Amino acid sequence: MQAWKEHYWTLRLERCKKALENNNFEVFIAGNTQEAGIIFSNEILPNLQIKTVSWGDSITLRATPILEQLRRQQNIEIIDTFAKGVERGILIERRRQALLVDLFLTGSNAITETGKLVNLDMVGNRVGGITFGPKHVVLLIGRNKLVKDVDSAMERIKSHAAPINAIRHEGWKTPCMKTAYCMDCSSPDRICNTWVINEKSYPKKRIKIILINEECGL
Ligand code: SF4
Repeated sequence: MQAWKEHYWTLRLERCKKALENNNFEVFIAGNTQEAGIIFSNEILPNLQIKTVSWGDSITLRATPILEQLRRQQNIEIIDTFAKGVERGILIERRRQALLVDLFLTGSNAITETGKLVNLDMVGNRVGGITFGPKHVVLLIGRNKLVKDVDSAMERIKSHAAPINAIRHEGWKTPCMKTAYCMDCSSPDRICNTWVINEKSYPKKRIKIILINEECGL
């Protein structure tokens, strides 16, 4: 990356970090997805003493080495709610169990300059896990998710993240998959069902955030 561009984003991410810390989130900044993995294994995981882990759908999380790092841990039970070849009813039951794990990982649809998280879920397991249940939460968030305020976050999600997220799921049938615009549909495949805004982390530092100075996810 050009140095001036990196500097621009470093300044913006550091400002966002301060706002998040004022809202009781614990925050780290990584230069890229590989560095996010190093921060997780060196600065976060050793302090958590976890026995169980699960995660919500996140392209950004999967772009890091974190899930592979966790799979190598002999003493940590993984609840894989996205395992291939497993029927959907079993995966949904696993997602219920995942709300009680020691550590839950995922991403965020948007993050505001004032230090708030904004997410829109289809099933609700992702926003559920972020909000209550798992003892610890780690979120991986690319710089492209940073927006001015909650209104901008909702606009970003409805005009960009949700339609493109629908399009990446083969076999679904939502109108935005044909138009690339939200039509506020009533499709059985509608992915926009539950909004959650996390204004602060409660308890303090329960939610840890790794801001990544790269474009990641949708
Ligand atoms: S409400 Fe329906 S049309 Fe709009 S983004 Fe969500 S799934 Fe697509």
